[in-house]
Amino acid sequence: MSKNFELNLSHEELIKRTSKDCLIPKEMLKEDSKEYASLSEGDKKALKHLVKAAKAIDEVFMKQDNPDNIDFKKFLEEESEKGNEDAKMTLTLFNAQIGMNAVDSEANKIFLAKNSKELPGKGFYPVDLSKEEFHKILLEMLNNGEIEEVRNILNQRSMVVRDGNKLKAIDYTEYFKKEFEYIADELEAAAEVSTNEEFNKYLRLQAIALCENNSKNDAYADKKWAELQDTPLEFTISREQYADEMTGTVVENEELNKLLEKNSIEPISKDSIGIRVGIVNKEGTDKLLEIKKYMPTLAEHMPYKDEYEQNIGQGDDEKQTMVDVDIVTLRGDEGTYRGGITLAQNLPNNDKPSLKIGGGRRNVYHRQIRISTSPEAKEKRQKRLDATLAKEFHKYYNQEADHWFTIGHENVHSLGPKSGTEALGKYKNIIEENKADMGSLALLDVLTELGMYSEEEKKQIIVTYAADNFLKAKPTLSQAHRVRTVMQSKYFLENKAVWLNQEGLLEIDLDKMIPTAEKMLADIIKVQLSKDFATGEKYVLSNFVWTEEMEIISKKLKEIDKSLNGILKTPLADKLANE
Ligand SMILES: [Zn+2]
Repeated sequence: MSKNFELNLSHEELIKRTSKDCLIPKEMLKEDSKEYASLSEGDKKALKHLVKAAKAIDEVFMKQDNPDNIDFKKFLEEESEKGNEDAKMTLTLFNAQIGMNAVDSEANKIFLAKNSKELPGKGFYPVDLSKEEFHKILLEMLNNGEIEEVRNILNQRSMVVRDGNKLKAIDYTEYFKKEFEYIADELEAAAEVSTNEEFNKYLRLQAIALCENNSKNDAYADKKWAELQDTPLEFTISREQYADEMTGTVVENEELNKLLEKNSIEPISKDSIGIRVGIVNKEGTDKLLEIKKYMPTLAEHMPYKDEYEQNIGQGDDEKQTMVDVDIVTLRGDEGTYRGGITLAQNLPNNDKPSLKIGGGRRNVYHRQIRISTSPEAKEKRQKRLDATLAKEFHKYYNQEADHWFTIGHENVHSLGPKSGTEALGKYKNIIEENKADMGSLALLDVLTELGMYSEEEKKQIIVTYAADNFLKAKPTLSQAHRVRTVMQSKYFLENKAVWLNQEGLLEIDLDKMIPTAEKMLADIIKVQLSKDFATGEKYVLSNFVWTEEMEIISKKLKEIDKSLNGILKTPLADKLANE
C-alpha cells in the first residue's frame, strides 16, 4: 500500500494546465536526427549508457527536492492505472516539473497535493526544522565543540537529518549510494565504448567521485570535465544551488555567524543534482569560441578590477571551454520545467573544490531550448512585439541576438570577484545573475570594437534585451533569475534608458543602454566586494520594485501568451533507454 494523498488542483484547472496552449512541449533530439546518425558506432553505444545514467538521477533529485515526491509519484501512477483522469493529468504535470511543488511562468506556486507546503530546506533538511531551530541547534553544537559535524552540515554535499536533539549530515555518496553506484556503472560502461579518450578519462573520474565520500575526487572529475572541448558527446552532472533556502540563512544570525567565522566554516548551499546528455554541435561551438580570446580584455574592463582576484586566469591560457550542444536529455535538476528551463550553464560554481586546484570552467549551451522555429511561436512573437515594443525598434529584434546576449551572460559569470559572496546569503544568486546580465550589456562596446559584433548586431542585442526584460508576472524573491529581471527593468526605467510612450509601447534610448548597464554593474561589484549581508539586502530590495510600467506590459503579455509551463519531449533518449 502506498501513502495516501489528495489531489490539490481541480478538474478544470488540470484540463487547462495540461492543454497544449498552457503546457508547451519542448522537443529534444529525435530518433532519426542527423546528429545522432552521424555519430560513430562506439559513441552511439556510449550514448545509451549515458541516457540510462541520466534517468537514474531523477530519483536522487526528487528526494532532494521534497521528501514526499517519490511516494506521491507512486500514488499518482497507481491512481492513473485505476483510470483516475485527474491523477493522470496531475502525473503529467509532476513529470514536467519533476516534483510535486513548483512555480509556473506567471509566478504562481503550484502544489499538486493538498496540504503540501513550501519547504525552505527542501528535502535537504528535516521538514519540521524551522530557521530558528536550525540556528539554535548549530549554536549549541558549536558551543559543544562539534566543529567538524557543523562543517559537514553546512557543506554543499550532505543531506541533513535529526539525531536526537542535534542534526547530522550524511554525505551524498552515502545517502544516495544505490543510485550513485548504478550511475557510476553506466559511466564505466560508456567509457569502454566511446571513441574519445579524454571524455573517457572524465567519465572514469566521475564514476570514482560518485562512489567515495571524498571531495577531492569531485575536484579531479570537475577539472577534467572543464577541459573537454573537442568531444563528440556531452555529459554533465550538474550541481546548482538555487533550491536550498535554508543553509544560507545562518548569516542572518549574528552570534552564529561570528562563531562560524571564528571556526572558519563557510556555509555553502546544497547542490541539487541533474544530468545533461547531448551531442556537441561543431558549427555552433566554433561561433561560441570567438569570445574566448577576448576574455582577458573583458576582465580589464570590469569595474574595480584592481580590488579583487579575477575569477578567470590571466593571459592567453584561458581555463574556459565552451560547447554548443544538441540535447538528448535533461534529467533531475536540469530537466525541471518550473516557469522556464535553463538556456545555458557555466559550471562549476565558485564554491566547488576543482577551482581551488586550478580547474577551469565549461559553458554548455542548449540548442533545443533556445531554438523555436514553429509557425505558432513566430506568430506569437510578432503579436508580442506589436503589443509591447514601439514600431521603429522592431527591425532590431532578433531571436539570435538573445543567444549572443546569453553568451555574454555566461562568460561574465567567469569575471568579477572570485570569493566572499557567500556572505550575501539568500541574495547571493540574485546579485550574481544580475552581474552576468549587466556585464553582458556593459561590455558590448568593447566587444564591438574588438570585432566580435557589428554596430548593427550591437543594436540588435540591446533592443532584444530591452524588449525581453519584462515579465508576465511579478516573481517571488526565491526566483533569482526573475528577480534580477525586475531589478534591471526598474533601474533602466529610472535612468530613462527605456520608458513607455502614450500608447504603452516600450521606447529605448539606444545611447543610454550601455552606460546604464555600466553604472549598475559597478553598483553590483561594490555590493559583492562589501561581503556584507545588509548591503546586499538593501541593494536588492531597493531595486526589486514592480513598477506601473511593468504592470502594463505584463497584462498585455498574459493576454497573448497563455503558456504556464513546459514539458520536455525526449524521443531519442526514450528509445535508447528502453533498448
Ligand atoms: Zn547565469
